Amino acid sequence: MKAVRYVQAGRSPEVVDLPAPTPGPGQVLLRVAGAGVCHSDLHVIDHALFPGSFTLGHENAGHIAALGEGVTGWKEGDAVAVYGPWGCGRCHHCQTSAENYCEAHASLPAMGGGLGADGGMAEYMIVPSPRLLVPLGKLDPVKAAPLSDAALTPYHAIKAALPWLVPGADVVVVGIGGLGHMAVQLLKALTPARLIACDIDDAKLAHARQLGADHTVNTRDGKRAAEEIRALVGARGADVALDFVGAQPTVDLCARVVGRASRIAVVGLGGGVLHYAANQPPYGCEVSVPYWGSRTELMEVIALAEAGRIHADVESFPLDEAVGVYQRLREGRIHGRAVLVP
Ligand SMILES: [Zn+2]
Ligand SMILES: [Zn+2]
Repeated sequence: MKAVRYVQAGRSPEVVDLPAPTPGPGQVLLRVAGAGVCHSDLHVIDHALFPGSFTLGHENAGHIAALGEGVTGWKEGDAVAVYGPWGCGRCHHCQTSAENYCEAHASLPAMGGGLGADGGMAEYMIVPSPRLLVPLGKLDPVKAAPLSDAALTPYHAIKAALPWLVPGADVVVVGIGGLGHMAVQLLKALTPARLIACDIDDAKLAHARQLGADHTVNTRDGKRAAEEIRALVGARGADVALDFVGAQPTVDLCARVVGRASRIAVVGLGGGVLHYAANQPPYGCEVSVPYWGSRTELMEVIALAEAGRIHADVESFPLDEAVGVYQRLREGRIHGRAVLVP
């Protein structure tokens, strides 16, 4: 089968031919329908985060192709999303389904399929345990693949911020890419807050307006953007800022626009540092660094998609084009989410 492999830090991934895997005891073989192309893969490709070579793709959905010995409760052909952060499955967080916060993460060989272990950018993928599968119902697995990260990650961040997102509140969303375009829809589906979408690309801001953003601000000039946002939100400041970029200018922007008793969630991996001084960010501000989401939250995201309240804007590509797709992602030239379809 064809697979898109991470080979070595700093080198382009390669499309290679591999034997299709067979599921061992307790495992499940997935026939991949779609694998989302995520910005965090660029971190995996650029830095030596995991040892050895492996198949990329941590945002996966498809159909069950075969069950390993001892697996019950599922059958061949079931449409499923693969829950991406693979924890130990036994610790307190894992038992609550929040494997994204597994206590044993430092001692695990991989963070998930496509993150140290073989992922979904291939015709088939091994899922190590059926506990990592979530039923897709009637959803198309190609369109549903991005739900497992591009929607789950902002959902997790937004759910924790719901107490702030009351009528009259303002929420700032920074970065309208794969995660940000889902965040706009999730906020519209879940909260009455006024939504200010920020990006340095006017086309992405137009996309945010189509998806329901109330205001858009181009943040290419960070200082001017902060003034523009402060003028919109007034003395109260923004109640919540969600940063899906996490670079220094975006983290700084969030700190400048939130008000007192607010919340900043930095989701993006852009390497920015949030500086702290008295009343800067303002007093009462809570800062969180959410990572991915829990398995039951993935079920909630899938339920929202099934109800037609959110959808991933998907551009699909064959596996062979993976290298070019990563290049386009690097250049900010993907609309919504790219999905590789084997
Ligand atoms: Zn990701
Ligand atoms: Zn665990």
